[in-house]
Amino acid sequence: DRIARERDREFSQFRDQLKDAEDLKLEESVFDEATYAAIYKLVQDGHIVAFGGPISTGKEANVYEALGPEDTDVAVKIYRINASNFQQMRDYLEGDPRFEGIRGDKKSVVLTWTQKEFSNLQRARAAGVRVPEPIAVQRNVLVMELIGEEDDHAPTLHDVAIENPQTAFEVVREYMRRLYDAGLVHGDLSEYNIVVYEGELVVIDIGQAVTIHHPNAGDFLERDCENVAAFFSRLGVDVDGDSLCGYIHEN
Ligand code: ATP
Ligand code: MN
Repeated sequence: DRIARERDREFSQFRDQLKDAEDLKLEESVFDEATYAAIYKLVQDGHIVAFGGPISTGKEANVYEALGPEDTDVAVKIYRINASNFQQMRDYLEGDPRFEGIRGDKKSVVLTWTQKEFSNLQRARAAGVRVPEPIAVQRNVLVMELIGEEDDHAPTLHDVAIENPQTAFEVVREYMRRLYDAGLVHGDLSEYNIVVYEGELVVIDIGQAVTIHHPNAGDFLERDCENVAAFFSRLGVDVDGDSLCGYIHEN
């Protein structure tokens, strides 16, 4: 019918715009037809006003800067349906009561994963852990608060000189404890997944975080503790993985 045709036309116009955008150095592989449709929906819903440049090209997702409503800046994380490590993603979904009975095919796993990152951000926030504010999720596309400024996203803990490592460590330790109390283990926590902005530490990349029901939750927590402890002990903080883990369990 006419309305559907009109919608199709609008959509292909939008898609062509995206493809043509000079500052949009997108890999062809990220943007299958359904991903364009998801972005289009986010634009129509007013969550994305205009795309900016890429921030990062990772193994399973690309992150872009974009303009949100009312002059806000947002980060748009687009997961690849053809993620190379989808088998591993599937393993991380195991035992999670929120995603019981999902189908095991590539597409379902990646879409569930995107949803999971969104839910994890909400849960972490509710637990008082500073993470980017989750804004919207559509298929394999996640919109969240941009940490940092336009064209100047926040650096990771790895990339900055830390004035007071002891204080920074205590903040991260408290985040880990709160997350654990809220039933989550980050699972990939290190100086690379914590960004620094205006004196605040912000935990990112929380898609792989598992609930404490996961069969490997204990191992993941230990690994997180090892990573965090190794980083801060290099900066002179008196800590090791075991004592950090102990602190999280006991407090
Ligand atoms: P990797 O495989 O490198 O860990 P990833 O695909 O898992 O990456 P993230 O770690 O979530 O993706 O993001 C990649 C990079 O993008 C981060 O290191 C950070 O620099 C930037 N980034 C992600 N989310 C945000 C955000 N909300 N605000 C600012 N920068 C962000
Ligand atoms: Mn990361």
